[in-house]
Amino acid sequence: MNQAAPQSSHVVAKFGGTSVADFEAMNRSADVVLGNPDVRLVVLSASAGVTNLLVALAAGSESEQRSYQLDEIRRIQYAILDRLDNPSVVREEIDRMLENIAMLSEAAALATSTALTDELVSHGELMSTLLFVEILRQRQAQAEWFDVRKVMHTDDHFGRATPDGAVLKELAQTLLQPRLQASLVVTQGFIGSEAKGRTTTLGRGGSDYTAALLGEALNLSRVDIWTDVPGIYTTDPRVVPAAKRIDKIAFEEAAEMATFGAKVLHPATLLPAVRSDIPVFVGSSKDPAAGGTLVCNTTENPPLFRALALRRKQTLLTLHSLNMLHTRGFLAEVFSILARHDISVDLITTSEVSIALTMDTTGTTSSGRSLLTTALLTELSSLCRVEVEEDLALIALIGNKLSRACGVGKEVFGVMDPFNIRMICYGASNYNLCFLVPGADAEQVVRTLHRNLFE
Ligand code: ADP
Ligand code: ASP
Ligand code: MG
Repeated sequence: MNQAAPQSSHVVAKFGGTSVADFEAMNRSADVVLGNPDVRLVVLSASAGVTNLLVALAAGSESEQRSYQLDEIRRIQYAILDRLDNPSVVREEIDRMLENIAMLSEAAALATSTALTDELVSHGELMSTLLFVEILRQRQAQAEWFDVRKVMHTDDHFGRATPDGAVLKELAQTLLQPRLQASLVVTQGFIGSEAKGRTTTLGRGGSDYTAALLGEALNLSRVDIWTDVPGIYTTDPRVVPAAKRIDKIAFEEAAEMATFGAKVLHPATLLPAVRSDIPVFVGSSKDPAAGGTLVCNTTENPPLFRALALRRKQTLLTLHSLNMLHTRGFLAEVFSILARHDISVDLITTSEVSIALTMDTTGTTSSGRSLLTTALLTELSSLCRVEVEEDLALIALIGNKLSRACGVGKEVFGVMDPFNIRMICYGASNYNLCFLVPGADAEQVVRTLHRNLFE
């Protein structure tokens, strides 16, 4: 379908929380939008801090804490509103949303639910987009606010909903495409709506994914992700200041980085990009002249070691059973229990009498501490002895043809002797080598490995 429609030269530009954090940041982002006539569609996150406050409210805050959190949200949005030339235009709308947030948080304090959480949390993106449209208008640009929920239809998996790509394409072509001809369109990342019209979210950090999905649905020529770092680095530059920018990287490598915790891109962002071969650019809205990283379908001479990623808060589940020895079907039984409880297994290693596995618990908006419900643990316990360990971190070395190269083990583990390694996955993927370490050691491990492999 995609190949048939001609690709337009238009670009979608997505700005993350820090890029719309305050009046100055919004104006810098407006400079980026207005500086490139190909940008017709703008996707925004909530202003920095707002989503976290809304998630806390949705978890059911005590009354005192609630009023502090509500005041904070109001303060962040009013600090932008008050600087507008003509604030009255959006003040009414923002006030209405703030009232809504207060009302929904009271309901959440009585009884929380995943649907209520998504409804509450969506207000962050609704407010930031309203304010940004006004900033563009005050700079004489023709800009229109668009409610993305009209086109981003999803399933009802609140907190981590899956969009329907075919419906999105059809609705985006009829409802959004004509608007792009007439003016700049500003819309929300992260949020969607399910069949009954209730608001859903795509998981924390989901605005990147929204931008890529819209880029695909509208056959745009590029997805620009504007954030607070000028590109994708060999590892998180906050953890390792010596990390180096990667100027050009293949879809597969960047997708591995995102999957294994490089927060700069939401894990699903590259799915539509790869599917439809749309390049993704990552740059800093604070310093657009610094350039950035281009993620595209080929790179010359891909290196053996490309990057390090870190995913915190991992849970390790070890299942022991002597029945596993010389019998058949034990793994099948374990997997069917996990599937029934909606758990997706991430890493796995096995021995004759035990299985160690991790589950990916990152990303959802819902506050559930862990996916390990009592029902799941009871069911597993009827089959085997279950051991649960929390607060581990997953370190992923991303590279190319890793499992075909010699000496990788020595290079990586030769410098790991001060650390306790809990699990290693190597060989199944050509693109990564992963292992678990205690959460408290994670940054030190990344720094040590980075020094050895990249500096
Ligand atoms: P936004 O709000 O713009 O979506 P995020 O905070 O989600 O921004 O992502 C940007 C952050 O990602 C950076 O500030 C950086 O700390 C972190 N990050 C993690 N890994 C990497 C990496 N490999 N390269 C660049 N940034 C990374
Ligand atoms: N505002 C949402 C979050 O903080 C989505 C995003 O920023 O991409 O997770
Ligand atoms: Mg992000």
